[in-house]
Amino acid sequence: MGQFLDGKNLADERAAILKTQVSKLKSQGIVPLFCVINIGDDPSSKLYIKTKKRRADEIGIVQKVYQLPKTQSQQSLLTLIDRLNQDKKVYGIMIQLPVPPQINLNEALEHIDPEKDVDCLTPSNVGRLWRGDHYVEPATAHGVLALLDHYQIKLHGKKVVIIGRSSIVGKPLAALMLERDATVSILHSKTKQLAEYTKNADILVSAVGHANLITPEMVKENAVVIDVGINRVNNQTVGDVNTVLIKPKVSFITPVPGGIGPLTVESLMEQVVKLTRRKNGR
Ligand code: NAD
Repeated sequence: MGQFLDGKNLADERAAILKTQVSKLKSQGIVPLFCVINIGDDPSSKLYIKTKKRRADEIGIVQKVYQLPKTQSQQSLLTLIDRLNQDKKVYGIMIQLPVPPQINLNEALEHIDPEKDVDCLTPSNVGRLWRGDHYVEPATAHGVLALLDHYQIKLHGKKVVIIGRSSIVGKPLAALMLERDATVSILHSKTKQLAEYTKNADILVSAVGHANLITPEMVKENAVVIDVGINRVNNQTVGDVNTVLIKPKVSFITPVPGGIGPLTVESLMEQVVKLTRRKNGR
């Protein structure tokens, strides 16, 4: 029977360490503050912002939310980003995804000062990531690696299959895992016969957003399964993996909730502190 990889507990432990670092910064008059720009009224975004706020409050980080209307123009978004770039009290800026269709996300991301890019999405930070420079860590990918490290699950020489090629999960995770000498395949919505790849994976990561996408036949005996997906089914939060059927077959599996979610939020807070310290030469 597989073991659960407890992300919640690890996130709490790491948050406690961060809290001590933050109180030290505050005693020196430095307040870690980051801004979330939320455009429109996506209900999941609202929930994620609330979850982040709870963790930020607990650690002593200030999260400031800029709530913008669904009809927000590109130009005034860029003006806001410019203003936050120049504000010395602001150490981190992120745009909550998704954004409405009139917003050119890439242009907006290019506007964010890379020194304040907590999400690691500006072109220069994405470039740094792919050349192995950990200037700022992409939160979910960093959370996945923290969990694997905690349970001493090695990546060197392993076959890793990641399902999902987004800029916030699949691609940055592939970069970090390649750096750790894993052999990484990225599957996506146009991949035919997912199982042909997944059943050879030593470590399988699903980051799609389809409940029950991963069934037992798709998973190798004793594999490690990381479920990044978040789905609402019958008023319950579930991942992409059919955990009940798959847990007996694998060595380790993340629960949803309580797996990668809490570590993503905690990793984001680590980045806020990292950027705050760097800016203040600490
Ligand atoms: P996204 O929509 O940007 O990307 C989804 C990816 O899945 C795409 O690359 C797409 O090609 C692929 N895909 C879609 N259908 C597929 C199929 N049938 N077979 C194979 N691949 C398929 O989403 P995202 O922002 O990367 O998020 C993915 C999931 O992870 C969502 O459920 C999201 O809520 C969740 N998420 C969780 C965390 C966390 O902290 N746990 C963080 C970020 C995202």
